[in-house]
Amino acid sequence: MKVDYLIVGAGFTGVTLAERLASAGKRVLVVDRRDHIGGNAYDEMDSHGVLIHRYGPHIFHTNSKKVFDYLSRFTEWRPYYHRVCAVVEGKEVPLPFSLATLRALFSQRVADRLEEKLVSRFGYGARVAILRLREEEDPDLKFLADYVYRNVFEGYTLKQWGLRPEELSPSVTARVPVLVSYDTRYFQDTYQVMPKEGYTALFRRMLAHSNIKVLLRADWREVEGEVRFDRLIFTGPIDEFFGYLHGALPYRSLRFHMETLRLPFFQSVAQVNYPNEHAYTRITEFKRLTGQDYLPHTTVAFEYSEAYEPGRNEPYYPVPKDENEARYRKYLEEARKLKSVYFAGRLGDYRYYNMDQAVARALELFEELTHA
Ligand code: FAD
Ligand code: UDP
Repeated sequence: MKVDYLIVGAGFTGVTLAERLASAGKRVLVVDRRDHIGGNAYDEMDSHGVLIHRYGPHIFHTNSKKVFDYLSRFTEWRPYYHRVCAVVEGKEVPLPFSLATLRALFSQRVADRLEEKLVSRFGYGARVAILRLREEEDPDLKFLADYVYRNVFEGYTLKQWGLRPEELSPSVTARVPVLVSYDTRYFQDTYQVMPKEGYTALFRRMLAHSNIKVLLRADWREVEGEVRFDRLIFTGPIDEFFGYLHGALPYRSLRFHMETLRLPFFQSVAQVNYPNEHAYTRITEFKRLTGQDYLPHTTVAFEYSEAYEPGRNEPYYPVPKDENEARYRKYLEEARKLKSVYFAGRLGDYRYYNMDQAVARALELFEELTHA
């Protein structure tokens, strides 16, 4: 078999590149070692008819009109604002930590004073990273920073990464800033939607092109010698590609415990985080994401974080910190020596991409490939 492009990985990155290249007249083979398309965004019906996300909750949000318009060619959308609560001192309070969270946890007098301090220091509507807030000298802001750090970030981050917040790149905890506003949505992006028929249906439509062939349950190493191709796009782990030449890049893995309950709803919002108790980090209730409100039962996922061990579990998260970035750079140097091999995606670029960022990166690479 001979193709123009061999794409390893059928997640958002690989599928976007396959669709773009096929539409530009290229013959493409997509291979994935899993038995399904969609990568970590794969969704499926469970045995109770609940649409679940096998690899964890996926909520689409972006500020990129380009990415939104591109994906809109393959799906209709359902408007959805993600709401998350964290259990703090036994109370379910809105996350990100906002002025509404202040009101839920402190007396009116204390909340008034802290709100006034936050607004005059940062301005209404500001998004302040917790590690930045901890640098404040004002005693009230210092008190608040320590409170939020201890009650929202410290325990959760230790569970999620096995590391303290300051041991990671500041960009990790900055994903969930302190919000100087009463906006209780988890994201503030312009576009916040879920694919009406789910992610797998979206991927199926993207791949429905006569120039695209898909081979599942096939590892790159198995097809390497069997398929002839002009160019290779690799969206799996870059360290694995190079046989761990510069040592293994750390990834964090997850384990999900799914439970279906004979209740219309299990919890008040789609996601409840447990920074301070339990071994799990969060519980997600899928029907609140997907709109299956009509079902008399509900499926929830308890999420446990664990170390990644190749062959035993999945590499879900790159671990953003300086020494890992330095090791990744060594792999990037190796990649630059290869002709006609391109790396992209959360694992190929070793970047903590959201779905929209994976698509944006794939669209950029497509431009590069077709204008080179
Ligand atoms: P992946 O989806 O990981 O796809 C890579 C594919 O490559 C996999 O299918 C894998 O099997 C295959 N592969 C790897 N190596 C090989 C090999 N050697 N041979 C063959 N195949 C191989 N983003 C959001 O925007 N919103 C969210 O709410 C959100 N929630 C998330 C929750 C969790 C728990 C996780 C882990 C991620 C979440 N994301 C979210 C991020 C999102 O999953 C990624 O941005 C997106 O899936 C990246 O797509 P990708 O194609 O780069 O990688
Ligand atoms: N975080 C936290 N407590 C929370 C939520 C998030 O400490 O209740 C920190 C934690 O380090 C986490 C990071 O912020 O890994 C990013 O959170 P996000 O919800 O974006 O994580 P994801 O959905 O990507 O797992």
